[in-house]
Amino acid sequence: LRSELGNMERLSLVGQMAASITHEIRNPMAVVRGFLQLMHEKSPSTLDHYYRIVMEELDRANGIINDFLSLAQNRVTEKTECHLHKIIYDLSPLLWADANLRGQSIELELDENVPELRLNSKEIKQLILNLARNAMESMNVKGQLTIQTKADDNSVELMISDTGAGIPKSKLDELFVPFFTTKDQGTGLGLVLCLSIVEHHKGKITVNSVEGVGTTFVVKFPRTNISPIIYSK
Ligand code: ADP
Ligand code: MG
Repeated sequence: LRSELGNMERLSLVGQMAASITHEIRNPMAVVRGFLQLMHEKSPSTLDHYYRIVMEELDRANGIINDFLSLAQNRVTEKTECHLHKIIYDLSPLLWADANLRGQSIELELDENVPELRLNSKEIKQLILNLARNAMESMNVKGQLTIQTKADDNSVELMISDTGAGIPKSKLDELFVPFFTTKDQGTGLGLVLCLSIVEHHKGKITVNSVEGVGTTFVVKFPRTNISPIIYSK
């Protein structure tokens, strides 16, 4: 099952998002306000329950604002020649700590033929983190996250796979739509941000998923020639 979005769709999605963000931030804020009011009126025994809801809604609002800010950051940021594998190794302690807490494992399958690419390492870190976190969140204990790279003559592929719940076919088209989430504490902006980062690198992102088996997100970067072209007579 494959799903792919082009440049035009992304632009309209971001426009769509700008229009709905006010609405989406106001909703959790209104819940917070309502429960605070109730706390004020009701007996102290109910306070703990309300307090939890208030905190969760505030965190959700915070998450949306943070993800939106990352997305709205201008993308004229520098790219430099760097290695995908170095970025993956830099992230390893963070990913392993996260996986450990969940009782999950991580497997790296890195192709040594992967060349340096022109990348914005901060954005690629964010891309991998978002995809890896989604993968972990889709799995129970004993799940396995696999990060794989593969190079051919024209492109470099980065694959993030999980052995999680999978995505129903009917939901595949909604994955990159702003605010689409199936999680209580989700923002539904993680994949929108991923798509934006991938397109900034002139890449493509696709997803293969089988319900009950797992999901693989594939990011394909064009293999750019980084050595200068010398013209001689
Ligand atoms: P969030 O993680 O905040 O929900 P995302 O944009 O990161 O937002 O993801 C949107 C939705 O896509 C998730 O809520 C989930 O339903 C689905 N999804 C993304 N990645 C995976 C995955 N690896 N396995 C299963 N479902 C996924
Ligand atoms: Mg996410």
